[in-house]
Amino acid sequence: MMYRSGVTTQRCKSGTDMIGRVRPALSALSGYRPGKATGQVEAEHGITNSIKLASNENPWSPVAPVADAIRDAVGGVNRYGDNNATEVCHAISQWQNIPIENLTVGCGSSGLLQQVFMTFVSPGDEVVFPWNSFEIYPVFSTLFDATEVRVPLRDYAFDLDAVADAVTERTSVVFLATPNNPTGTAVSMNEVADLIKRIPDDVIVVIDEAYREFSDPAFGDPVVELLARFPNILVTRTFSKAFGLAGLRSGYAVARPEVIAELNKTRLPFSVNNLAQAAMIAAIEHVDEAMVRVDELLAERDRCQSALGSRGIDIVESQANFVLVPTGERTMELASALEQVGIITRPFPGFGLRITIGTPEQNDRWVDALVGAL
Ligand SMILES: *Cc1c(COP(=O)(O)O)cnc(C)c1O
Repeated sequence: MMYRSGVTTQRCKSGTDMIGRVRPALSALSGYRPGKATGQVEAEHGITNSIKLASNENPWSPVAPVADAIRDAVGGVNRYGDNNATEVCHAISQWQNIPIENLTVGCGSSGLLQQVFMTFVSPGDEVVFPWNSFEIYPVFSTLFDATEVRVPLRDYAFDLDAVADAVTERTSVVFLATPNNPTGTAVSMNEVADLIKRIPDDVIVVIDEAYREFSDPAFGDPVVELLARFPNILVTRTFSKAFGLAGLRSGYAVARPEVIAELNKTRLPFSVNNLAQAAMIAAIEHVDEAMVRVDELLAERDRCQSALGSRGIDIVESQANFVLVPTGERTMELASALEQVGIITRPFPGFGLRITIGTPEQNDRWVDALVGAL
């Protein structure tokens, strides 16, 4: 047995022992904290029938043919899935009319965003994104020893001039979530084109379209409108939200073949598992059924907005499957009031309460509870 002299356990800031030479970058992270689970909230408050509206999940199970495809694929999980997800890429290619060399799949779009960091972000690089936005951008920036540059929103929307101004020669990636999480606001592809024109073409511009299916088509399609004009765009999409497959981790990216080839080098082998692949293929085959549900959720979103509006509560107009209630300094107090009656939302302290659109009954509950608490 070999011994190295010196201390083998260190104390982290929190006072707990650290084993192994943990990378210094991690000391700045507390780890991803998902919202409380319904079971935990029910135990804490002695209630039942709580609802989770904190993660922008689809309230409905996947449509029947997709559930069947997942069930049928179960017998094959002793084998690894197809690492390149060839069939899935073919299905996406036909569905979206995108050449297959422009496509790749990932372990959710979060997995693809991590691959973007692994592919394009070196230690010390600057990573630019509007803020508030998707909370994974700062987490990965920290993990990859990048310098994050947060560009403040203006009236809950992106300030794309300020984003362009924030890009320097040290910038490697810009992240734009449209519709944005947690505000639900979107930008048009004309606006994005004007931004990209002002950015050097060795800066990758990621257009994170996790909520694409919920947004007004008038905002445009980056693949159709931007991919041929700009070599440096990378679009990420997901089956998690509109298609109700969050738990299976299934996303895809669209970019120039050269970008896709580099991105593919960083994928964890077989990370898009074969159940996810079967589900994606079936989801594409039965896309119309999923879109019926998307339309229902959009109608519910409008209903919630007018119900609140008629009681004098203005929310940020949303292009996604959630709304942001601008609750400012009262955000934590209101989140806790809702939690006590079994409604789990996502508070952003000092900023607002993000609430996922659920089933009609769930929406009645949170709207009434919020009106009562305000
Ligand atoms: C939910 C979300 C994602 C992640 O989706 P997965 O495909 O489930 O990883 C990506 N971007 C934004 C902005 C999101 O809100």
